[in-house]
Amino acid sequence: MSAADPMPMPYGGRDVPHVVIEVNQKCNISCAACYKDKSSYTKPLAQVLEEIDQAARERNLSMVSLAGGEPSLHPQLEQIIAHAAGKGLTVQMLSNGYSLTEEQLRRYEAAGLHKVYLHIDAHQRRPDARGVTSERDLDPLREEIAARVRRAGLHCALSLTLYRDRLEEVTDVVSFVMGSPAYDRLLVTCCTDFQAIARAFGRTAAVPEQSGHGELDGQSVTNAQVEALLRDRLGMVPFGAIGSSKDENARRWILYMSFVIHFPDGSWRPLHVGPRIRRLVEAAYAAAHRRTGRYPFGNVMSSGRAAATCLLYAATSGSPRIMAETAAFLARLARKGAVLRQKCFVFQQGPSVTADGDIEWCKDCPDATVRDGRLVPVCMADFMTPLGTGVEPAASPLSLQPLGDAGVAPARGRARPRAEQLPAHAGA
Ligand code: SF4
Repeated sequence: MSAADPMPMPYGGRDVPHVVIEVNQKCNISCAACYKDKSSYTKPLAQVLEEIDQAARERNLSMVSLAGGEPSLHPQLEQIIAHAAGKGLTVQMLSNGYSLTEEQLRRYEAAGLHKVYLHIDAHQRRPDARGVTSERDLDPLREEIAARVRRAGLHCALSLTLYRDRLEEVTDVVSFVMGSPAYDRLLVTCCTDFQAIARAFGRTAAVPEQSGHGELDGQSVTNAQVEALLRDRLGMVPFGAIGSSKDENARRWILYMSFVIHFPDGSWRPLHVGPRIRRLVEAAYAAAHRRTGRYPFGNVMSSGRAAATCLLYAATSGSPRIMAETAAFLARLARKGAVLRQKCFVFQQGPSVTADGDIEWCKDCPDATVRDGRLVPVCMADFMTPLGTGVEPAASPLSLQPLGDAGVAPARGRARPRAEQLPAHAGA
């Protein structure tokens, strides 16, 4: 591996520090690429709490993300947040933001919520955004909802699905997050051919068809396409990556880090750090693991730490060009009212079906969830067991358990469910 390559993220097996806990299936808007079954199912409180406990037993967790459906529609969400926070976990929530009120957000914050990921993109049907023809059209709505989140004392990140017909606009979205003081992070999920995944599970009534999957023909996007655009147009190069269940060197996740100085007149200047920050990040991860027994996940630096990290980055880069660029960047902090912020950008590519019919997904799935008592990739959980429908689970070797005493990843054999394991109604 050369210094120009992104760093493989250091966690795996039991040491993956994050899980997604789904609290319901219900939602109040519609997204073209949604892979949820969208029933009105609400998970009982006791089950949600047990799933958090189970996940915390099986992974050395730092963070839990609460998801749905739309999790804010769960009537006991505050108790769920308080339970996870009480276990010492950082708690974040994935929400479309449509019906979130400031008062509701304040209650979540008091219960222990840390951050809200707002999923807002151009292929949603939502009552608060009409006549949308580009990702940029959504920026005022993104700012308006983020302001509510920030006033409630919560951190805010943007989440979206990236479709082929919007691929060229990815740099607009990255620039929006760079320039917005409200957002510290962007999580992009590349549009995925979930009909192929549904077929691999023998589900003919593919879940996405219920949410308008017909719109998705030819809409799949890969991280390679994203990486080329960000490099060519913005000069951004990923510092980290996560491989796949079949290839450690695949780039199923690519991670970018930048620092931005915001000025009082609304202008901003970025510093994209690239893979040369890798040594620092590796050292920080190793130190955190030695100290706490777990890896950090999704933390964002304070301004003071961001400044110290910029200086260390320059000092350890061994590059006179980077030292000069960083010095010129930090000198701008002398301007009155200038504020330094860290920004992270994460792109994830969904699961795919290989030519020989296997399913390939992200290495050790950092977004695993609990389904039928097992840790499984959240993107495929509904294909394995549609919730609240009475449909029998498809027994599948996709489980991420058991992880083994040494914390090693499970064997990666053929991932395709065997025909005799599929439920009778599963078709095809
Ligand atoms: S395998 Fe895991 S990390 Fe990858 S897209 Fe699916 S849920 Fe996300």
